[in-house]
Amino acid sequence: MAELDSELTTEKKIIAQNLADLQGRIKLASSRSRHNQGPIELVISTKYVEAHIIKMLYELGISCVGENRLQDTERKLKTLSDLDLHWHMFGHLQRNKVKKAIRIFDLIHSVENTRLAEEINKESLKLNKKTRILVEINVSGEESKYGLSPGDVIPFMYELSKMEGISVEGLMTMAPIVDDPEECRPVFRGLRGQSERIKEKNIYGIEMKYLSMGMTQDFEVAIEEGANMVRIGSAVFKGL
Ligand SMILES: *Cc1c(COP(=O)(O)O)cnc(C)c1O
Repeated sequence: MAELDSELTTEKKIIAQNLADLQGRIKLASSRSRHNQGPIELVISTKYVEAHIIKMLYELGISCVGENRLQDTERKLKTLSDLDLHWHMFGHLQRNKVKKAIRIFDLIHSVENTRLAEEINKESLKLNKKTRILVEINVSGEESKYGLSPGDVIPFMYELSKMEGISVEGLMTMAPIVDDPEECRPVFRGLRGQSERIKEKNIYGIEMKYLSMGMTQDFEVAIEEGANMVRIGSAVFKGL
């Protein structure tokens, strides 16, 4: 038992150090950004770690975690439901999972088509709630990626605007996996451009409060381009 305890402490120390490094890098990147005034929300991607690690994150002051599969999240929540953690969903969401998802997640980053939005709207109205979402845009145009094409975004916003069970709070994108994060800059700039175009339209019920962009490989570039929500996993768990 003593051995197990010291192992746990080591894990926690590694995570604490990684978090401190990460927060330092976020701060520096944000001081370089011309686009960021407010705070940057850190969503720790916990899709590859189990509940005991998530508990450590919580004890280290993390308040927001992100997952990409509903079933995994449900399993982890069995032992974590009493923690005051915010759970975000950034994976592809199937319509038959919406009913559960809207009870579990505080923010869904990955809404990208009308049928999914309608399902979220319908189930939210049944619960008499507004579900907070971001619209995922496939800025890079990679075929392998989910997300709306940039040209479809404005009409989609008008559709969402009519859905009283949904509150649109911003946009999300994923950049391509590349060696040099500089290559992602045009993608992040593109998402910011989209959010500015949407703001100019002043669409009823559509807020552009968050730009969710940036992962371990590219969050500094994303922040320089205006990200105020970053989703980071690997950087936090390296060395475990
Ligand atoms: C896994 C994941 C992340 C985090 O990626 P890391 O490289 O581990 O930082 C961010 N966003 C999405 C959508 C993910 O699926």
